[in-house]
Formats: sequence, structure tokens, C-alpha cells
Amino acid sequence: ESKRRIRNGWQLFTPALAQTQQDRLRVETHLRRAIDNDEFHLVYQPQVDLRSRRVIAAEALIRWRNRQLGEMRPDHFIDHAESTGDIVRIGAWVLREACRQTAAWRDAGLGVVRVAVNVSYRQFLGDELAAHVHDVLAEFALPGSALELEFTERVLIEDAPDTLRTFAALRDMGVQLSIDDFGEGYSGLNYLRRLPIHGLKLSQLFVGGVPGDRSDVAVCQAVAGIARSLGLGLVAEGIESEAQRRFLLDLGVTVGQGFLFAPGLSPDEFSRRLHGGPGPPV
Ligand code: C2E
Ligand code: MG
Ligand code: MG
Ligand code: MG
Repeated sequence: ESKRRIRNGWQLFTPALAQTQQDRLRVETHLRRAIDNDEFHLVYQPQVDLRSRRVIAAEALIRWRNRQLGEMRPDHFIDHAESTGDIVRIGAWVLREACRQTAAWRDAGLGVVRVAVNVSYRQFLGDELAAHVHDVLAEFALPGSALELEFTERVLIEDAPDTLRTFAALRDMGVQLSIDDFGEGYSGLNYLRRLPIHGLKLSQLFVGGVPGDRSDVAVCQAVAGIARSLGLGLVAEGIESEAQRRFLLDLGVTVGQGFLFAPGLSPDEFSRRLHGGPGPPV
């Protein structure tokens, strides 16, 4: 059943609402104009050292606020944007905005190490991604090591001819490459050996179940083992409790993100957190 609620004067767009054909058209029509109308912004979720809770990176997460549709989480519109192809322009906007903000933090002496940007499989089709990343890094005088790109196993399943070359070019720029939501996909483990990637992100689908659920425990152990034996970094997502933090530390996972530490923060909130402030409550 579709429901509309009002929050802060904005209609809240619920997933049920997106399901009818008419609503899908409405979303897609608004989506096409969203960049020009300045309707997107980014929030930044800290990635922290699980021992010290020190912030070591930020993941940029897109938010969309539309007068008619309200506030929408990416899970409600990224799929639409992928099917229309608008994700390519939106993704380019996200990349540039995240790099602009990161350069501003660095210039302000906040010393943020790295920003992680989610990249859709559609952005890997064709051969433009590497050149675009190169141009954006140059525009803001950022080293490649300031940027991490997160992509899902879907990129590997599509297996477009240019993908391997794109990976190689990004890696040559020093850009970090990570597989997001690792374990949720079906692409097999074979590709892990041949891809020039740096790390895996352990999906919150499994982190959410530890330490109580035995099969989630088993998956987390397996993923940690794969990362360790292939020499890949591992970031745990969706950490919400102390028990989860301790479980992951015992597994040897030292970097993570989740509501236990912070949700996605505005740039101001994030820089306060970098200054060592406590930040807003979750
Ligand atoms: P993701 O990249 O796996 O991002 C993690 C999602 O989990 C984020 O949701 C984040 O707010 C949420 N999260 C973080 N910590 C916790 C926690 O402790 N518990 C729970 N339950 N959730 C937590 P968000 O921002 O709604 O994004 C959802 C997905 O949308 C992302 O999953 C990513 O796949 C996609 N997305 C977000 N921003 C972008 C973007 O700029 N471009 C593309 N292509 N996709 C994006
Ligand atoms: Mg991500
Ligand atoms: Mg994820
Ligand atoms: Mg996800």
C-alpha cells in the first residue's frame, strides 16, 4: 500500500509508491531534470579504524530531493537511472562533487585520506570512465590515491570488452578499486585472481547477522579468509553494534563503517568529525 508522509515539509517517497508504471514514469521524468535543477547532494559516511574509531576515509552516498516526489534514497531511483542510462550523467556528477569536496577538505588541512565513490556498471560500459576520472582528479589537483571506486559484481558479470582496460588504467592512476556488497553476487571467485583490485567490502547482509546467526558467521569468516589469502583489503559494512565490532576485530577485520560509528553526514558534520568532535547522534 502506498503511503505519503510529510517530514520536514517534504513528502517522503515510499518504495511502494514506485511500483506502479505511472509512478515509474514520473520518477524517470523528474530524474532526467534533477541535475539541472540541482536536486542531488552527497552525504559522507566515515570509514573508521575499528580499534581506535579514527576516521580513515569517507564513502560518498547520493541523496535526491525533489519538490514533487520528496526525498528519495538511492535504492529507490538508482535502478531507474540505470535502465534509462541517466546514471552515466548522474555518476559523473557524483564523482566530480565528491572530488571537489575532498579537495576542499584537504585544502582546509583536515587531512582526509580518501573518498570512496559508488560507480554503476553502466559507467563501465564504453571506454570513457578512466579518462573522466583522470580529468576530474586533474581539475582538483588530487592524487589518484585520494579516490576509491566501489562497484558491484554486476560490472564483472557484464564483462564488457573495455572493462579490464578501464581497471588497468584506473589502477595506474593510483585509484583504489573495491568490490562492494561482496558475497551478494553470483559471479564466482575466478575473476578475483585476474582483476587488479585492492579490496572487498563485506556486505551488511552478512554483517547484520553476526555474531548470532551461524551461516552469517560462516560467510564473514569465508570472506575474511578470501581477502587475507589474496592480499586484499577488507572493509565491513553496516556495523550497528559493539558485538559486531568485536566479532569483526576477532576475525582480523580492522576497517568498517556503520551506524555504530556514524550514518552518512553532511560535509560540515563530517569535517567536525575529522576534527575529533563527537558528531551528531545516530
Ligand atoms: P552501498 O554502497 O552498499 O552503501 C551502503 C548503504 O548502507 C548506504 O545506504 C548506507 O546509508 C547504508 N548503511 C550504512 N551503515 C549502515 C548500518 O549500520 N545499517 C544499515 N542498515 N544501513 C547502513 P544508501 O545511502 O541508501 O545507499 C544504498 C545504495 O545505493 C548503496 O549501497 C549504493 O549501492 C547505492 N548508491 C548510493 N550512492 C550512490 C551513487 O552515488 N552512485 C551509485 N551508482 N550508487 C549509489
Ligand atoms: Mg558502496
Ligand atoms: Mg555496500
Ligand atoms: Mg548496497
